Amino acid sequence: MKIVFATNNQNKVKEVQALLPKTIEVLSLKDIGCEEDIPETADTIAGNALQKAEYVFKNYHYQCFADDTGLEVTALNGEPGIFSARYAGPEKDTEKNMQKLLTNLEGKTDRTAQFKTVIALVGLTTATPTLFEGICKGSIINKKKGTQGFGYDPIFMPKDYTETFAEMPLSTKNSIGHRGKAVAQLILFLENLNA
Ligand code: IMP
Repeated sequence: MKIVFATNNQNKVKEVQALLPKTIEVLSLKDIGCEEDIPETADTIAGNALQKAEYVFKNYHYQCFADDTGLEVTALNGEPGIFSARYAGPEKDTEKNMQKLLTNLEGKTDRTAQFKTVIALVGLTTATPTLFEGICKGSIINKKKGTQGFGYDPIFMPKDYTETFAEMPLSTKNSIGHRGKAVAQLILFLENLNA
C-alpha cells in the first residue's frame, strides 16, 4: 500500500517510514510531483491538517495524511495556536516568535501551555477522515534554555521535567512529545488496517 505524507520535510517522511512495515510505502509531496503551496487557511489545527490531506487526496488521488502543530498558551487564550510559525510576522523568525511570546507573558502568573499535533488521514477504507491528536502539557519558562530542537523548544518545559525540549535528547522529546504521540496512534491504525 502507498500512502502520501503531505510534507516537504524528508526527515519526517523517513521517521514515519522507519516505524511502519515495508508493505506500507510512505511517499512525500515531491515523490508525487506536488510542488505547489498547499492552502492552510483553516482556523483550527485539526482543520489545517485536514485541509492539507484532503487537497492531496482530491488533486492527486492518493490516500494521504498530513500533520499540523501549534503551541497553545493558557494565559493568551490559546495563542499562538495556528499562528505558531508566523506569530511575530510572515518571515517565520523563531527568535522573534519566542521573544514576542515572552513579552506577552510578562507579568502573567499562569505560564502553562501545551503543544498540540493533529494528524488527519483521508482516503482509506473509512468514509470519513480519521484524526489523531497528540498533546504535550508543560509551561513557558522566563528565558531560553538549551540549544537543541527547533521552534519554541528553548522556552517550553514539559510537565514533570526540569529541562526544556531544547535541553533533552531528541529520543526523550519524541517519547513524551506531541508529534510522537500522534504518530504512534497513526502507526497503530495503519498496522491494524494492513494486518
Ligand atoms: P508545523 O505544523 O509542524 O509546521 O508547526 C508549526 C509551528 O509550530 C512551527 O513552525 C514551530 O514554530 C512550532 N512547533 C511545532 N512543533 C514544534 C516542536 O516540537 N517544538 C517547538 N516548536 C514547534
